Amino acid sequence: MTDSTNRPIVLVAMGGHAFMQRGEAGDIRDHERNAAAICGSLMTLVERNYNLVVTHGNGPQVGNLLLQNELTRDSVPSMPLDVLVANTEGFLGYVLQQALLNHLRRRDIKRYVVTMITQVLVERDDPAFQNPSKPIGPFLTKEQAEERRDRLGWKILDDAGRGWRRLVASPRPVRVVQRSMIRDAACAGHIVVACGGGGIPIVRGENRDYEGIEAVIDKDLTSSVLAAEIGAELLIILTDVPQVYVHYGKPEQRALDAVTLKEIEVLQGEGHFAKGSMGPKVEAIVNFLKTGGKRGLITSPARLGDAMDGRAGTHFIGKI
Ligand code: ADP
Ligand code: MG
Repeated sequence: MTDSTNRPIVLVAMGGHAFMQRGEAGDIRDHERNAAAICGSLMTLVERNYNLVVTHGNGPQVGNLLLQNELTRDSVPSMPLDVLVANTEGFLGYVLQQALLNHLRRRDIKRYVVTMITQVLVERDDPAFQNPSKPIGPFLTKEQAEERRDRLGWKILDDAGRGWRRLVASPRPVRVVQRSMIRDAACAGHIVVACGGGGIPIVRGENRDYEGIEAVIDKDLTSSVLAAEIGAELLIILTDVPQVYVHYGKPEQRALDAVTLKEIEVLQGEGHFAKGSMGPKVEAIVNFLKTGGKRGLITSPARLGDAMDGRAGTHFIGKI
């Protein structure tokens, strides 16, 4: 048996599709079925002898918790957003642990799975706090939204005519507090689930103590910070498209097979990668390559095996 400490670490970031497909209600059966499918795809990495760290999004789940808080706020104390992110890390970590352990057991592979409740440090003076831009949670009427604004100090927005929503800041992740434990556990051969929902946002308060702050951190950007901190060899971002495209959605659309850091920065400048979806993924990979990472990959779970053989996906190559 190979010594697990010598295996390279791969960090895999998974989007909302890992738990819910478009049109699904998102009950526990949906979560379990989708998680089982995507964790099946991850087995190709285990079988290729990588140490594995998994991160994931939580958009629909934290949205539902915010709605539950709204509906029960007269009978149960509402919880702040950092606590709700922690809740989703536990919930989704459990679902992933179960799915991964079942796949490992069926293959008779003896590796453990652990979820880290992860705090991620952000800067209190991040400009994002002056300009909250990320709509989250349930759609409210104008009156409801204004009442929350006045009572709770929320920033609110009429979201594309669909209803009023709360706006929160999306500051940049600076450091993952649990990075050493995540790396150590991964190097020991355990599969680590971490930074769910981009991680729990915290800041340095008075006396430099940590304290939670109401914000959300982009899970792709947190993943690139963590990947660099733990010395991952490869950062993989799994999403619902098999490749990254230029001129996406237009007749002249063209898939990217392999690109260098230089090439991708030119394409970024030309505006090919939409803000809020593909933009942060490409930015995450660029950050990773600039902070010591060697390789990045964006693909879908179904194409992961082929992509690892160089026959699918979009590959990003750092300095050679
Ligand atoms: P995730 O939940 O995985 O983060 P997102 O919806 O945030 O998923 O991002 C994936 C989406 O990005 C794709 O479904 C696609 O519609 C969109 N997208 C925007 N620009 C591009 C592009 N240039 N190439 C491929 N997909 C793109
Ligand atoms: Mg996304």
